[in-house]
Amino acid sequence: MSDGEGGIRRAFLSTNARNAVIEDARDASPDEACGLLVGRVEEARVRVLRAVPCTNEAPADRRSTRFTIDPRRVIEEERALRGSGEGIVGFYHSHPAGQPVPSSVDRGYMEFWPEVLWLIVGVGGADGDAALRAWGWDPGAPESPRELPIG
Ligand SMILES: [Zn+2]
Repeated sequence: MSDGEGGIRRAFLSTNARNAVIEDARDASPDEACGLLVGRVEEARVRVLRAVPCTNEAPADRRSTRFTIDPRRVIEEERALRGSGEGIVGFYHSHPAGQPVPSSVDRGYMEFWPEVLWLIVGVGGADGDAALRAWGWDPGAPESPRELPIG
């Protein structure tokens, strides 16, 4: 995962990764989409090169407000990336009917898995536009979760 030195301060998304996340969010709606973010950590910046969509493994009646990624997918992807210079740098998921701001459930995930990028895409806006926001969690930092500038 990330080097964790001083935490992540900024995120960069490739056009491919951005488009893939938005497309997955629209396809999955009204359920939450979720997946892995693959790229590199460059000092305090996370560079996301690709998004890897994953099946939302949450129970069917909860998928509109919850997401669960099978941990085996994470392990498989890490294995596939070994030696490539790339790694899993974060996770994304969508809020089909809400703002791209961490929910209390999300905060729990973030606390459990800190020092990675948490990208949330909101697709519930009246204008149909997707909104992406990036978040980070530093253990012990009172301001967590902290929004990270994208770009
Ligand atoms: Zn969420």
